[in-house]
Amino acid sequence: MTISVERRDATQHGQHGNQGPAGRVQPYEYSRRELVEPDWTRFPGWASVTAAEWESAQWQRAHCVKNVDQLRAVMGDLLDDAFYDDLVRDQRGTATMSMLVPPQMLNTMVPTAEPSGPGSFTEAFYADPIRRYMVPVHSDRRTDWPTHPRASRDSLHEHEMWVAEGLTHRYPTKVLAELLSTCPQYCGHCTRMDLVGNSTPAVEKLRFDLKPADRLSSMMGYLQTHPEVRDVVVSGGDVANLPWARLEAFLSRLLELDNVRDVRLATKAFAALPQHWLQPEVVEGLGRVATLARSRGVSLAIHTHVNHANTVTPLVAKATAAALEAGVRDVRNQGVLLGGVNADGDTLLDLCFALLDGAQIMPYYFYMCDMIPASEHWRVSVDEAQRLQHDIMGYLPGFATPRIVCDVPYVGKRWVHQLEEYDRERGISYWTKNYRTSLEHADAEALDRRYEYYDPIHTLPAAGQEWWAAHA
Ligand code: SF4
Repeated sequence: MTISVERRDATQHGQHGNQGPAGRVQPYEYSRRELVEPDWTRFPGWASVTAAEWESAQWQRAHCVKNVDQLRAVMGDLLDDAFYDDLVRDQRGTATMSMLVPPQMLNTMVPTAEPSGPGSFTEAFYADPIRRYMVPVHSDRRTDWPTHPRASRDSLHEHEMWVAEGLTHRYPTKVLAELLSTCPQYCGHCTRMDLVGNSTPAVEKLRFDLKPADRLSSMMGYLQTHPEVRDVVVSGGDVANLPWARLEAFLSRLLELDNVRDVRLATKAFAALPQHWLQPEVVEGLGRVATLARSRGVSLAIHTHVNHANTVTPLVAKATAAALEAGVRDVRNQGVLLGGVNADGDTLLDLCFALLDGAQIMPYYFYMCDMIPASEHWRVSVDEAQRLQHDIMGYLPGFATPRIVCDVPYVGKRWVHQLEEYDRERGISYWTKNYRTSLEHADAEALDRRYEYYDPIHTLPAAGQEWWAAHA
């Protein structure tokens, strides 16, 4: 199957009106493009890497880029020294996540740029959408309001809602099980920056207290005694970092519970390191779990996290084909809406069509980037998110049109059009909810209260920015 997504000269914010530029009839023009695996040998450090090595999960993990020296070893002279300095400055001062980029992901950055000279390649690398969130540098961050005054670690308060260590019970019928706190890749904007990954100079990470086996048993104990829970998101971190035998053992126990009807495995590695999900022992294990799930009438799905069409390569499509063949009901994408990466209608639609047509992955959600420290350059306003939702409607099948959602602290996911009230000058939106989280079972006012979410201050009119300068 081939898919082509033709790049257009649309403005950053997409096109409005009946007719686009140059006589174009639709604001977004769909066409198909073939998925490609960019040629990794264009990078000096990988010039002699064979296809067999590239497709090996072990080789990929062993050659992840974890620091500036390793990036330099791959890139050779392609990048100017100033870029490395910019990266070091961010790592030492601001970054909330340490660096961990699998070769598969690095290879999707500047996939077609001609490295004709250090300057031009550096420019292309700086501008690359995947680089912007996987290899953030100091100059990416805002200097006026790098962090929103109401931003916080664990901005979604998942830790407060733990009912067993790592088990967040926020919604009435579903839970999030964080089995581990590591991933095979670290995203700069990670919403679980409080817990996930290695500590950085800016952030000392929270650590689990219990041993892994005890933590999983305690989660299981809660699920056994709470029949109202029917849906379990098995996450982390990234489940791809759990040895398969341990993950399978946990899933098998989960599938023994009559109340559990939906199980979703959360793994960005599905797209960032598809080699993991293509290993024979993983595909076979997934097949056993899928068979068991089907025999019990349970839906087993994989949820991945792709933010840009360039991530969707033939290896990602191959991983989906293997998972579906193994009996997984669906592979779905939950991307994050990020300024400089994908926050325009054309880029979102390009991504959705690449996922859907190219790799049989269902576009599902785009989350607004959460209010964590140092994320203001990635965040967009609710107003902007509403406009983007408008711009992507009508092109994809309804079942594959992703909802853009705001994860409102103490509330949960709300479709961006669901707000109750919106003070655009100060960028404060007000939201309500129709269920109690595990924190509020005895709280009579939880459903009457209004909960706030804050737009990035740099997106506000001058009066709003002045208000925050005076009140922050
Ligand atoms: S894969 Fe998910 S959990 Fe891991 S760093 Fe990225 S956003 Fe965070």
